[in-house]
This record gives sequence, structure tokens and C-alpha cells, in this order.
Amino acid sequence: MMKNTNKYEVWFVTGSQHLYGEETLKQVEINSKAVVAGISGAVKAPVKIIFKSVLTTPEAITKVCYDANSSEDCIGLIAWMHTFSPAKMWITGLKHLVKPYVHLHTQYNRDIPWNDIDMDFMNLNQSAHGGREFGFINARMGIERKVVVGHWKDPEVVKELDIWLRAAIGRHELSTLKVARFGDNMRSVAVTEGNKVSAEIQFGLSVHGYGVGDLVDYLNNVSESSVNSLFNEYKEQYTINKSVLDDPQYISAIKDQAKLESGMKSFLDDGGFKAFTTTFEDLHGLIQLPGLAVQRLMYQGYGFGAEGDWKTAALVRVVKAMAADLKGGASFMEDYTYHLDPKGMKVLGAHMLEVCSSIASGRPSLEVHPLSIGGKADPARLVFKAATGEALNVSLMDLGNRYRLLVNKVEVVDTPDLPKLPVARVLWAPKPDLKIAAGAWILAGGAHHTAFTQSLSIDHILDLAEMTGIECLVIDENTNLDDFKKEIKLNEVYYYISKGIR
Ligand code: MN
Repeated sequence: MMKNTNKYEVWFVTGSQHLYGEETLKQVEINSKAVVAGISGAVKAPVKIIFKSVLTTPEAITKVCYDANSSEDCIGLIAWMHTFSPAKMWITGLKHLVKPYVHLHTQYNRDIPWNDIDMDFMNLNQSAHGGREFGFINARMGIERKVVVGHWKDPEVVKELDIWLRAAIGRHELSTLKVARFGDNMRSVAVTEGNKVSAEIQFGLSVHGYGVGDLVDYLNNVSESSVNSLFNEYKEQYTINKSVLDDPQYISAIKDQAKLESGMKSFLDDGGFKAFTTTFEDLHGLIQLPGLAVQRLMYQGYGFGAEGDWKTAALVRVVKAMAADLKGGASFMEDYTYHLDPKGMKVLGAHMLEVCSSIASGRPSLEVHPLSIGGKADPARLVFKAATGEALNVSLMDLGNRYRLLVNKVEVVDTPDLPKLPVARVLWAPKPDLKIAAGAWILAGGAHHTAFTQSLSIDHILDLAEMTGIECLVIDENTNLDDFKKEIKLNEVYYYISKGIR
């Protein structure tokens, strides 16, 4: 679980008009505040929901949209039509609004008061048709938005809002994210490449390349005392074999990672980077591949992608931010090797070293072993197995004409002991089964790298995709390959046409 430290705001606006008279509008405002208080108390997402105002003129609507655009803390809006708000008033505001919004289609009272209902009540409670007028103008303008229907105290409605709020956090993080790349792409790998200009236009995220030498300058400035204090922290948090602590060579390997952790963290924080990549092909000046250092930085909330994979680095950061304060962790992940026994096909997920211990079950063990690739010194790393239960693998690809999110629901099962494999590992059974899931994944061009999350649901990812205007394909218990192939073909047409002449 990652703690949230940001100050996200979502603005609640209520649509109405002057026709109703002052008294009704006063009641609309009182009810709106009650709804905001109710939702605020019920949702778990680390977002402050702020009631803005009852909007009754085009000028007021336009102003609140402009204000939302220019507010650094506002990550989205909730719109509710308590009464009827003639929607031509909304055109200019909605046309310019760049923050996402959810249309909460609710009403103040849950039930119709059969014995007391009169024309005053009818005058005040008009969401049923007021919401339709607002829906029309959004549909007419072709605006993507989420519609949540039901009473505002209904736990199902609260849950849907919570999911949307977390997706809004993800979108906001993506729109301001800076990714640092130490070295370029692993040579000749295709899927980790992509158009960084397109990414910045689509998402707002920016990718910045550095030579490893830039990092070495930071490493040289790491003090002996910060290395020692990190080493003491490692001894407290992880199991370390006595033979390791008795061997000066092993201790120095661990301290090298402490130096990497401290230096990389300073580099990232100085530049405002919340995600980064490394590549084992470009380690000039580094004594070993950052293993433990990367694991520790991911645990602190930084996104990471190996082999120059900036898209997965961004995605790992985003799923961590979206899941703030939720149970479970998130990590960079790779489908490594298969167990193809027809009685239960599974995937062993791992990486050379870089798996985040936020997904671990129990206390990780800190070990030093040789790496059979890259030709550098033996790196220290955390070894553990992941907690069991439901999880997602999420992948982001650049298809040339669009970005595609691909998500597969998996069931993490217990990993048998692997005495000769000293890396963090996860064993999962994909939904609906490995044969269909891997088939669909490969047909969709899904990457071997993913962001693995134990906290988010498919709905979180779908809301994020909708908000950022990109495609999302889902592989879960309902997937069948014939429909999946048809969806890919239909999407090709949709995304080709919807983009217009560019
Ligand atoms: Mn890899």
C-alpha cells in the first residue's frame, strides 16, 4: 500500500436555472451540499470533493470550467442536474473544459413520497429529465464522460464514483508525469519503443533521456553516512543471511545498491521525475545493475521500466498513484516462463531483479548473486514471492496510429519453493485460462512488460482509458477469441475514423 501525499480536488457543480425562483435554488444548494458531504464521507479515494456552486447562467458555467482548467489541484468535476438546466448554457464551458468529469445522475430523495408528493416537490426534484438534457448536449458534442446512475447513498454508486476518482488521479498523474531514462532502449527491442511526441500530445507525460554519466555524478556525491543509514534500514526491514553479513564482498555489493538508491533518488527528486528507466546494456560507470535500488524506489512510489521501457515506467507510476491507500501493491512485471501442464497452466512472472516488494507476501530476503547477463558485478536484490489473490497485468502499447491499453485479470497462486532461482517471483493463472489469455494478448500486440497491480479492478483501467481517450482491450473471465478478434477489427475502424485527417 502506497500512502497518498498529494492534494487532489474534485469540484462538484450543480446545474439549474433562474426560472425556479430563489427559494427553490436555495434548497438546491442545501441539498447539493448534503450530497457532497455524503459522498465525501463514503468514498475512500484520497480526493477532496469541493462544492462549487449552483450554476444558473452560461457565464457562470463557462467560468467554472475555465477555473477548473487552470487549477493545479483540480483533477476533475462531478456534475449533477438537480433541476432542469437548459443545456445550450453548457456549450461554451464544456467545449473548453479539459478536465474529465462524471455525470452523477442521482436525486436528493431516494423514494417518491407517495402520500406527500405535490407540485412543489415536482418543481424541486427534476433530475430524471434534467439529467437527460445534460446527457443530450454531451452526446451532441461527442464528449467522453462517465455516467453514474443511482441514489447517492447507494454503496454501488459510491463504489463507481470511487473508481472514477482514482482514474482521475491516474489521468492527472499521467498529464504531469516526467520520466527519466538512464540510457536508451535495449537495442533492437520493438515494443518498448514508441513516439514520445505522440505520448506528450496524448497524455501530457514527458520523457527525458540522460547518459549514465549524468547519474554517476550524483552517485559520487552520495555520502558514506547515507549509505550506512540505508544499510541499517535494510537490516531492519529484510531477512539477511548471516553468511552475507560476514562477507565483506557481499556487504560492499549491498552498499553499492544503497549508493545507487540514494543517488538515483536525488537525481529523480531534483528533476521532478516520478518514473525512470534503466537498461542493462548501458551501464558505463555503474559497478552493478541497479536491482535492490530499483526495488526500493518502486516501493517508495516511483514508476519503473527496464530496458528503456518508458511507457511501462509511466504506467507503474500511474497504477501506484491510483491505488493510494488501498490494500495491495504494484510492480513492474514481465511474463517470464510458462507452466503448460494441461491440468493448470500458469505463468511465472519475474524480472532479472526489478520487482517491487509492495506485492510481497511476508518479509523479503536480501541476497547477493551473480547475474548471468550484462557482465557486471554481482547485484544485491530482494527475493520474495507475491501475495496470492486477484490481480491485473496492464500493458500500454504504441500502435503507430494510437495507444492501446491491454489488461488481463489473473489469479495469483502460491509459488513452490525455487531454491535455485534467487529473484522475486509471482505465479499466476490468467483469466479465463492461459490458452485464451495468451492468445488474445499476443493478437492484441501486448508487451512482455506490464504494470502488475493487486489493488485495481478492470473498471479502474477502463475509466482511465476513457478519460485519456485511448483504446482499452480487456481479457477476463468473459473473453472469447472470436469476439476479441472482432473487437480489434472494429476498433481499427473507429480509431482510424475518429482521429480525422491527422
Ligand atoms: Mn524485460
